Amino acid sequence: MVAWLRGTASGGDAALFAAARATLERRIDRRVRMRGLLEFSNLCTCECRYCGIRSSVPVARFTLSENEIVSAAVACRDAGFGSMTLQSGERRDSVFVEFVERCLRRIKRETKTSELPNGLGITLCVGEQTSDTYARWLDAGAHRYLLRVETSDADLFARLHPRHQRFDRRVRALTTLKALGYQLGTGVMIGLPGQTEEQLARDIQFFRDINADMIGMGPYLEAPGCPADLRPDRGVSERLLLSLRMIAATRITLGDVNIASTTALQAISPTGREAGLAAGANVLMPIVTPSDHRSAYQLYAGKPCVDEDTATCVACTPARAMRAGRPVLWNAWGDAPHAKGGPK
Ligand code: SAH
Repeated sequence: MVAWLRGTASGGDAALFAAARATLERRIDRRVRMRGLLEFSNLCTCECRYCGIRSSVPVARFTLSENEIVSAAVACRDAGFGSMTLQSGERRDSVFVEFVERCLRRIKRETKTSELPNGLGITLCVGEQTSDTYARWLDAGAHRYLLRVETSDADLFARLHPRHQRFDRRVRALTTLKALGYQLGTGVMIGLPGQTEEQLARDIQFFRDINADMIGMGPYLEAPGCPADLRPDRGVSERLLLSLRMIAATRITLGDVNIASTTALQAISPTGREAGLAAGANVLMPIVTPSDHRSAYQLYAGKPCVDEDTATCVACTPARAMRAGRPVLWNAWGDAPHAKGGPK
């Protein structure tokens, strides 16, 4: 795996990406799954040092209303996406927990169609919560949860987060989610300062050991107000290539999981997401956040699509898949085969 990540394996990157595509076709299929990504609030109690919406950053804070969230869900359904991801900063207060629960129940109720008899598939991406909260949201209809481990290296994790955000608690949250019956998503940032190919290879082993069903990862990008010790130490093209190699190595190693080609790839290259698909990814996440709030949800500088609106992203993202020669799976949840046996 280290040779793959360094680009020194025989045949180089072309052979690596071709092998990843062959694995995808053999273990799943070539169709790209769409998940509308709704960034519904940037309120956050965490202080992840790399993140542009960490609590100490003086950005205008917003939370969408329940009706705005349900309308975005309906827009995803009408676009034929079949699934959506609800992402926000991290809050654990009861007002937030109940709010998310109410939104989930309404989305499930209000997005049913003959093709989606159980409504949209919903992925939550709202951070570390108690087991009770996770169970409540599962009961309310979320069936997937995305919580990136960020890095599986405890020392690197400690450099990225304040002391009270503990690595062991992050890992425990992941095992709790899996045990509760969620389809589990995790992932890492690629090209963090000081991060080695050996650490990235161990990240892939971590994904396997935690039994992840879905992987979301992308290049590390500098956030506004980035602390000096977190300035990237690899150039952007190196981070892009390393990210594509990570996608390919993860595809080959894990086989039947869903892997996202993330927005961050497009921050580095205008066709970064297409390149992610060509390296073995099979999920795209068109942003459906209302345009007036996009500029307040910049996890990193140079985030693409900030000046665009939902209608544009809903049309543009599937077109990217098709331009990359890949069919789209419409009007279906598009669960990973790895997750079969979970709720349908
Ligand atoms: N609060 C949620 C959502 C976090 S944002 C949670 O904790 O899960 C989603 C992801 O964006 C993070 O998991 C992180 O991997 C990524 N991210 C944040 N800042 C970033 C940066 N500067 N560069 C690249 N990715 C970043």
